[in-house]
Amino acid sequence: MSDDQNRDEFKNTPPKDGDSHNEYEDICYMCRRPEHVAGKMIHIQPNIYICRDCMQRTFDTMNASGLGLGDLMNMNFNKLPNISMINLSDLQGSVPQNRKLKKPKPKEEKQERPVLDIRSIPAPHKIKARLDEYVVGQEHAKKVMSVAVYNHYKRVMSDTSDGIEIEKSNMLMIGPTGSGKTYLVKMLAQLLDVPLAITDATSLTEAGYIGDDIESVVSKLLAAADNDVERAEHGIIFIDEIDKIAKKRNANQRDVSGESVQQGMLKLLEGAEVEVPVGASSKNAMVPMTTVDTSNILFICGGAFADLEDIIKARLNKTSAIGFKAELKDRYDNDENILTKVSVEDVRKYGMIPEFLGRLPVLFALEALTEEMLVRILIEPKNAITKQYQKLLAMDEVKLIFDMEALKCIAAKAKEKKVGARALRAIIEEFMLDIMYEIPKDSNIGMVTITKDYVEKKGAPLIEMRGIYAIPMR
Ligand code: ADP
Repeated sequence: MSDDQNRDEFKNTPPKDGDSHNEYEDICYMCRRPEHVAGKMIHIQPNIYICRDCMQRTFDTMNASGLGLGDLMNMNFNKLPNISMINLSDLQGSVPQNRKLKKPKPKEEKQERPVLDIRSIPAPHKIKARLDEYVVGQEHAKKVMSVAVYNHYKRVMSDTSDGIEIEKSNMLMIGPTGSGKTYLVKMLAQLLDVPLAITDATSLTEAGYIGDDIESVVSKLLAAADNDVERAEHGIIFIDEIDKIAKKRNANQRDVSGESVQQGMLKLLEGAEVEVPVGASSKNAMVPMTTVDTSNILFICGGAFADLEDIIKARLNKTSAIGFKAELKDRYDNDENILTKVSVEDVRKYGMIPEFLGRLPVLFALEALTEEMLVRILIEPKNAITKQYQKLLAMDEVKLIFDMEALKCIAAKAKEKKVGARALRAIIEEFMLDIMYEIPKDSNIGMVTITKDYVEKKGAPLIEMRGIYAIPMR
């Protein structure tokens, strides 16, 4: 019997997984290569596929070791060389969908519909205009990001045959907590319709230490792209709390956590082919692997960089302390937006290594949110929190109004908490609970006005019955 015939012997009908079977690739249980790399698979038992190469190797080994073909015919996997280590009970269970790779699209389809089309990428002013709909203030940050993103995707499309290679526009974003760093990135990814993975630098460690290894961020992106490698390769990875992996200043011991993680990230930021597990954050025997090229992935790193102000101030004061300007020494002490004057040198002093900073050429800072900006955040964005409550009550045919004085009071309370805009929701939710509970009880209520007194817990909201008069709620 020829080898080809042998193989066909084992080829049963593939399982009927519904449509998902057509969309996802089979993965060889021995070498873990997906179908588009290893070729057609031989289906042996429910959810067990073996590629032809591995099957051939198995036959060769069996011939050499004197094992009979009958063993294989009887599906006695324990006797198959190379897979005797596999836990058979794992094999019998179905492979979770998130551990399967999406089949690459056929060539013709790719040409018709490119993953990204430079003509469809909005120009920087359009990107900024869309961000304006959601993000209040942060004019400089929005402008820098729009240009950087536009250039990045132009770079992705560009051809390098003329020898001019456009540099990657990875970004380093500095801003106080709750100033909208994550929010900006989320909005950007949504706008460009690219997958986004958000991760925290504190959870990253060098390979071999406890924690997620650095390449796990790419694995997350692949999951966000629905296991579509091509989409993932044009995605965005946001690494938050990047300041937490700064090299420890004045530390004598070897610093395993910070500097080495930065070192480990260099390759990834620049562009490398990384082998990542599909549907899991760590590599282990039973997880299929695939290769993702990171050279077109946009990396955005963000952090609050606490105390960076002192370094910036020291640098600025040094310049201004020369000669007759010396009396202006405390000039920057009350400057809330000192972070916007950041330079690469300051961040290097903070503990980020030069090679790391060199791979994040776009450096910018976000402003600290003022009370006035917090009020605008409450009412202006398309999905502003006050609009959300108004929509909820409108479903009960009740009009909800927030007094300007009440809004200012909420903003002032939030500002005190020093966690940026994040405090707003908690404050509003606290006093809206009673409203959301009480109002639907009485179908005669037509309008509710949130007053400053109510926010300060000194009074009640103003209730208006349908078409009659205003009374304070008890
Ligand atoms: P961080 O800078 O710590 O990453 P986030 O982006 O998570 O802060 O912000 C928390 C929340 O505050 C966001 O989900 C968003 O709703 C709101 N927010 C923060 N800044 C702004 C802003 N400039 N405009 C509109 N909403 C904002």
